[in-house]
Amino acid sequence: MKYLITGGAGFIGSHLADRLAERGDEVVLLDDLSTGKLDNVQHLLDAGSADLVEGCVTDLALVEDLIGAADRCFHLASAVGVQLIVDTPLESMQRNTRGMEAVIEAAAGAGVRLLVASSSEIYGKSSATLHEDSDRVLGSPSLARWTYANAKVHGEMLAYGYAKQRGAENIVVRLFNTVGPRQTGRYGMVLPRFVRQALAGEEITVYGDGRQSRCFTHVCDSIEALLQLIDCEGAIGHPFNVGRHSEVTIQELAERVVRMTGSSSRISHTPYEQAYGEGFEELGRRRPDTSRIEELIGWRARLSIEAAISDVIDHQREAAALAA
Ligand code: UDP
Repeated sequence: MKYLITGGAGFIGSHLADRLAERGDEVVLLDDLSTGKLDNVQHLLDAGSADLVEGCVTDLALVEDLIGAADRCFHLASAVGVQLIVDTPLESMQRNTRGMEAVIEAAAGAGVRLLVASSSEIYGKSSATLHEDSDRVLGSPSLARWTYANAKVHGEMLAYGYAKQRGAENIVVRLFNTVGPRQTGRYGMVLPRFVRQALAGEEITVYGDGRQSRCFTHVCDSIEALLQLIDCEGAIGHPFNVGRHSEVTIQELAERVVRMTGSSSRISHTPYEQAYGEGFEELGRRRPDTSRIEELIGWRARLSIEAAISDVIDHQREAAALAA
């Protein structure tokens, strides 16, 4: 099989490429290297296990060419990270919506099965356990945070529309706080930031009181779900939550990172407005109901938060050793 991965040099895309290449599939990566990194995939390029096309998902002609030559496509390219979204809401929104439109239209036109990465962010502020059909509770559109959720929902609805009216083989996955090696903290993601701060002996910056919680999911578990879902006929036309059930508060996460790195870093608390700017809205809790994917393909997250923290620590230590 020949797979196209948009955002293939990014954190999740590069792990997916590793797995596909390992099992002998042909892999083409489309990435503009804006948030993705060559380092993430250099080993695959050197080994001739993947090809990288440097370009943007908003380039419709390029996307049509690449999708037309593939058997299947994972659409992961996205401006992602709360910090990036609140700093550049306009560019993030445009890149996410136009990229989605280009990929979804091209895949439908070429009859190529497509898995679209969406996000738990689309549920907004609801603190209930989130089922795929749960109502969404979004804040005001004038708050930059919600541009990401709206762009993802726009893509989801296009994917369902093409599936229903044009017979496109579209599958939607809503990822819940995927973490692991190669994730960068530059755009806001909490775990790589805490690990970097702990290893550098800097303050660990918990935002708010730290009682907000998330269900962190190891990237290897998430990849497994993506690979199984794209092979599953019964998944076509539907969204699936992909995440762990167990919640961790951000304060606990900071304490675990300090313990597991053996760091002497102090944990500090920064008000959200100071961290992200005025009018920022935070989510207290975000927990998935994963009964749909469990019933369909028997997938369940297996790796613990400790495994994810430990893998991120090892990765950052290795990267620092290489850079030294
Ligand atoms: N967070 C934090 N310190 C940081 C970065 C993030 O306390 O340096 C918090 C953030 O406010 C949120 C949680 O960690 O409550 C998860 O943030 P992330 O951006 O990783 O994911 P999301 O908010 O999309 O769940």
